[in-house]
Amino acid sequence: MTIGVRAARRVRQVRALACLTILAVTALAMTWLAGLWAPAGEASGQDKNNKNGLRTVLLVNADHPLPDDYQPPKLVKLAGTVAVSGSGVTVASEVAEPLRNLVAAAKKAGLTRLYVASGYRTPAEQRRLWQQAEDKSYVQRPGHSEHQTGLAVDLADLRVGDGEFGDSRAGRWLADNAWRYGFVLRYPPGKEKLTGISYEPWHYRYVGRAVARTCHDRGLVLEEYVMQP
Ligand SMILES: [Zn+2]
Repeated sequence: MTIGVRAARRVRQVRALACLTILAVTALAMTWLAGLWAPAGEASGQDKNNKNGLRTVLLVNADHPLPDDYQPPKLVKLAGTVAVSGSGVTVASEVAEPLRNLVAAAKKAGLTRLYVASGYRTPAEQRRLWQQAEDKSYVQRPGHSEHQTGLAVDLADLRVGDGEFGDSRAGRWLADNAWRYGFVLRYPPGKEKLTGISYEPWHYRYVGRAVARTCHDRGLVLEEYVMQP
């Protein structure tokens, strides 16, 4: 093999390597740009479905009962991980970690008396609450409550009554920040006609971060979110 042939082969090898490098860099750059250009807050199909199927965006309200064949979620006890009203408070397994993160962030912000007052409810518990409630504008009928999905929690502050919670530091902080952890203020003021429920500053529903961000950025309640094209 002459020096000329060897040199030509070396040039071809270097060119091939350069081409491969350029291809790889281009592919990486496109992946990165695709991520950057994805509309902020837009829930992708994958986010909506995620590993939980559509469960996390399941609409449950007066007009939308839980499906007859609804399987109760896998439940996780919260006691020992976040402050709770009782040792029996549970949530759906996919909510536990985001909720811990939310409460930890709240604590960092100085909200040290925040606790989970209610999580998952059995159909029987919801029936009892419904029967006992004098004002039914704050309670859903059995079979129509998000609490039966394990995806909703009622949050409370040890020193703040329900009536003041919305204007309390805790209530305001949650309204401003819960979406970052995948939760939406489910019954905000001004949307009562859509939700069918009076303003409940303590009731937060886990929908996943992408959906929560969309709802927060666009001022949508879940009824509006699921109806949008
Ligand atoms: Zn609630």
